[in-house]
Amino acid sequence: MDEPGALWCPSPHYFAGRRGERPRWIIVHGTAGFATAEEVVAFFQRPETEASTHYLIGRDGRIFQLVREADAAWGNGAVSRGHDRWWGMTGNPNYVTLSIEHHKLRRDNGDELTAAQKQASFLLIDHLCERHGIPRRRADAQGGITGHFSLDPQGRSYCPGPYPWDELCAYLARHGQVPVVAESKSTAERPFLHADQARAIAESDPGYAGLWQQLEELREVAADFQRRLITVELELARLQGQDRPPGSRPPQR
Ligand SMILES: [Zn+2]
Repeated sequence: MDEPGALWCPSPHYFAGRRGERPRWIIVHGTAGFATAEEVVAFFQRPETEASTHYLIGRDGRIFQLVREADAAWGNGAVSRGHDRWWGMTGNPNYVTLSIEHHKLRRDNGDELTAAQKQASFLLIDHLCERHGIPRRRADAQGGITGHFSLDPQGRSYCPGPYPWDELCAYLARHGQVPVVAESKSTAERPFLHADQARAIAESDPGYAGLWQQLEELREVAADFQRRLITVELELARLQGQDRPPGSRPPQR
């Protein structure tokens, strides 16, 4: 459907069209049981399940897609005390997230990913970042990648369980993309180029390297403003008694 090579196994459980939102975070899950990937698919397809995921990655590295990326899966509904601070500012987190389940045999998600599963997971995450402009890094208020525990540390502290986060970050950094300053047509339309290509240009062109340095410094300033903005918004929300996000929250896996 959206991911080349993925097996399309549609689930009936989703919010069509994300209510105008776009995905900014990727949420990593573990299935905490099930003997086979097919059983997980059947579970999410059952009418009474009222939960779903965009993707499931089997122990053998097969990727199943159950919900279109343009729609919101029902995987990240509940937000509990201790959640990462940015979730309190959004409506239903399902509208702004993409979910990836990893088939794990143990009920406590204690098993590690298999080598095939890890490879498929890293590739899929890289592709999702590419398609949706999601930052290739651990999640922060602007977006990125994290686990289910980030939203629901009370109920889902064990989801996804062991996951090679440092390896993922190193992988994404190698495959990461950065803006091509010299070729920008407008601020609204920034073409992208691989980081190693940008480094090669910077080495041969001091003007490009200088602009690149400027961009890095401006990004730092922008990030600082963003942090201050979030602090004020959170304080406002707290005073208005809106710490918990509104909206319906279907059950979750
Ligand atoms: Zn989960």
